[in-house]
Amino acid sequence: MKPSIYGLTQEKLQNWLVENGEKRFRADQVWDWLYQKRVKSFSEMKNVNKKTIELLEEHYQIQSLTETIKQESQDGTIKFLFELPDGNHIETVLMRFDYGLSVCVTTQVGCNIGCSFCASGILSKNRDLTSGEIVEQIMNVQHHLDERGDSERVSHIVVMGIGEPFDNYDHTMDFLRVVNDQKGLSIGARHITVSTSGIVPKMYDFADENIQINLALSLHAPNNKLRTDIMKINRAYPIEQLMDAVDYYLEKTNRRITFEYILLHDVNDQKEHALELVKLLKDKRHLSYVNLIPYNPVEDHPYDRSSKQNILTFYETLLENNINCGVRVEQGSDIDAACGQLRSKQLSKKSKAKSKA
Ligand code: SAH
Ligand code: SF4
Repeated sequence: MKPSIYGLTQEKLQNWLVENGEKRFRADQVWDWLYQKRVKSFSEMKNVNKKTIELLEEHYQIQSLTETIKQESQDGTIKFLFELPDGNHIETVLMRFDYGLSVCVTTQVGCNIGCSFCASGILSKNRDLTSGEIVEQIMNVQHHLDERGDSERVSHIVVMGIGEPFDNYDHTMDFLRVVNDQKGLSIGARHITVSTSGIVPKMYDFADENIQINLALSLHAPNNKLRTDIMKINRAYPIEQLMDAVDYYLEKTNRRITFEYILLHDVNDQKEHALELVKLLKDKRHLSYVNLIPYNPVEDHPYDRSSKQNILTFYETLLENNINCGVRVEQGSDIDAACGQLRSKQLSKKSKAKSKA
């Protein structure tokens, strides 16, 4: 199967064109058609000569995702379900905030990390997405906005859809380079956030990348016992190792890090947990932000959302101890726009249909 043209960074496209007897500057032309004019076929690239277009058509696809469902929520959130060329499905969510339009992308089909609260973990990993398939999610959303005709642009990206981006590190990095490139979509690095469950060696690599992209760490518990209970990855990379990697990141980049913390009713949402979290983060609180996430209950998982009172107490305990924090605002809950829900619902409908047959 031909790979997606969107997977090539500017440099990789230049090198590929030169290797194939073409001039380096053709890459500028092709990128202009892809990311500024945003055409959907190679043949529309009018100032690119015929031979180059044939070469591109022979080796690359320009549209490898097929949109199968698009659901719009009352708050303007749009959830897209795409089919990949091999028949797998992925989801992408567009959210509207007062600061702009943010897209949440998927990096893998399923996820092998298997956190006990997450819908994506139920479906173990089928495969990694290519860098082109990740970029195409953004392009499809942007094409949708272009067709609406009100000149809106995707301004922010969160890598928080299905999958563990640091378990698909190289493809995720190429994706980030393409969308961040000034000649590409030119989405500012400070407007992009990558979330990881804490694959420690890759956190060191990410710190060394020399890129201003924000990092979020899914911490979710203040001690190893609790974290291992809900995130089995904690056995491989326990909290001490995570915090060493965080310190390295902070020292290397001097950038703030976000700690994500899902509040699960009666599991990790007590005042004592908040106090333990304060202890864990106090030496780096000037560069830390804790994002408290109200849990979206997932069918077949035993957890509930914390009570409003527990969320408030947790939040206030952090604030009283000078830990920067906020509670994540929910988007698109009427269309199941939370992590992994649409895809897992689609799959379970399919498998029910199959078992009836
Ligand atoms: N694999 C990466 C990125 C994808 S998940 C990671 O785990 O960080 C993005 C965020 O959504 C993570 O913080 C994850 O813990 C959280 N999440 C997963 N399932 C959720 C649910 N049911 N409700 C709320 N947040 C959830
Ligand atoms: Fe994978 Fe992230 Fe879900 Fe854990 S929370 S199973 S790492 S997608």
